[in-house]
Amino acid sequence: MLDVFENLESEVRSYCRSWPTVFDRAEGSFIYDEEGRGYLDFFAGAGALNYGHNHPDLRRPLIEYLESGAVVHSLDMHTKAKRTFLELFRDLILEPRGLEYRVQFPGPTGANSVEAALKLARKVTGREHVISFTNAFHGMTLGALAVTGNSMKRGGAGVPLSHATPVPYDDYFDGETADFLWLERVLTDSGSGIEHPAAVIVETVQGEGGLNAARATWLRELRDLCTRHEMLLIVDDVQAGCGRTGTFFSFEEAGIVPDIVCLSKSVSGYGLPMALTLFRPELDIWEPGEHNGTFRGHNPAFVTGAAALERFWSDDVLSKEVIVKTQQLTEGLTVIADRCAGAQVRGRGLLIGIAFDDYSVASTVSSEAFERGLLVETSGPESEVVKLMPALTTDSDDLQRGIEILDEAVDTAVACTAVA
Ligand SMILES: *Cc1c(COP(=O)(O)O)cnc(C)c1O
Repeated sequence: MLDVFENLESEVRSYCRSWPTVFDRAEGSFIYDEEGRGYLDFFAGAGALNYGHNHPDLRRPLIEYLESGAVVHSLDMHTKAKRTFLELFRDLILEPRGLEYRVQFPGPTGANSVEAALKLARKVTGREHVISFTNAFHGMTLGALAVTGNSMKRGGAGVPLSHATPVPYDDYFDGETADFLWLERVLTDSGSGIEHPAAVIVETVQGEGGLNAARATWLRELRDLCTRHEMLLIVDDVQAGCGRTGTFFSFEEAGIVPDIVCLSKSVSGYGLPMALTLFRPELDIWEPGEHNGTFRGHNPAFVTGAAALERFWSDDVLSKEVIVKTQQLTEGLTVIADRCAGAQVRGRGLLIGIAFDDYSVASTVSSEAFERGLLVETSGPESEVVKLMPALTTDSDDLQRGIEILDEAVDTAVACTAVA
C-alpha cells in the first residue's frame, strides 16, 4: 500500500511518517484515508487550512472560475482575479486596520515571502546583518534558514549560514533577565562586534520552535527598539497570521505596526500556494523584476483568497469564535497538563499545545492520537511539545472530541514512557 512512496519518493518526506496511511478525501475538520477512515485534523496543513478542508464557499467560486475558461497562469500580469483579490485585501484587511502597506507577490511559499523581506530590508538599509531569535523558524531556503534556529534544519544547508545573529526570544531566561538587555547593549557599544543590523525578524508565536508566544509588551518593546536603532521590524506571520490568534494579523493585539510582514499558508484560504510580502510604501524601492518568479500570484489562489476574505473577514464573527474556541481548548489542555508533572500549556489563539518535561512524550502522544483518529503534530527543538492547530472553523463538539482523544493519548503515552 505504501510501496511507491517508500521505494520511489525521497527520504526527505516527513509528515507522512507520522501518519502512515494514504489520504483521499477531506471536508471541514476531517480528512479521510483510502480505507474511508476519518481523522479529526488538528494540524490543518501546518496552518494552511485555517478555514478547514474544501470549504464549499471557496470551492464553488474556484470551480466556476476554472470552468469559465478564465486565465489560470499569468506570471504577474494584470488579471481580473488579481484585481478582485487586491481590492478586497485593501478594503477588508488593510484599510480597516489603518495599515498602509504595498503588496508584493513573491513566489508562492512562506520561504519566498521571507526571502523577499530579507532582500528588501538589506537593499533599503544597505546593511547585511539581520537579528533573529532563538527557536525561530522562517523557512528552508538559504536566506530564511540563516535566520532559523533549528540545528538539524540548518545542518541541511551545506554552506555557511551567515549575516544573521540569533538573540534570546521572549522569556528565554525564564524571566530572570530584563528583556533586550543584551541586544540594547551591543547595539550601542561600538566595540561589541555586532554589525548594525538591517532588520529584526520575529514570529509573535513560534509555531515550529515550541509554541513560545511573545507577550504584547515584549513586542511593543521590540518595536521601540527597532525604531530607536533604525532597524526594520519584519513580522513573519506565515503561520500565526490569517486569523490563527483571533485577529487577521497576529501582531494586532500588541498594537504594533511592523515595517514588513510575511504572509502565506492560509492566505489563499483553500490550501493553494500563495504568499504576500507587505511593506511600508517608502520601502518599495524594488527595480521591476528584481525579485522575479514564475508563480507569483496564481489566479486560482486569488479566487479562493478573495472568497475567503469576503466570507470570513467582512465582519468579526470568525474573530469572536476564535476567542471562544481558544478558551475551550485552553481549558481542556490545562486539565490534561495539570495531571502530568512539569507539563505546561503554551501558545496563543488556536496555535496552542502542551510542552512535556520528558522529551519523548509528545511524539508518542502524536502517534497514539493518530491510532485514535486525531492528527496532531509536535513542535520544539526536541519535538517536546504536542501542537494543536485545528481549523478556525472547527465546531465546539469536534474540539471537545479532539481534547478527549488527546486526553487518552497522553494517558497512554505517559504510562508507556514510565514503563520504558
Ligand atoms: C511555514 C513557515 C514558513 C515557511 O513557509 P513555506 O511555505 O514552508 O516555505 C516561514 N515562516 C513560518 C513562521 C512558517 O510557519
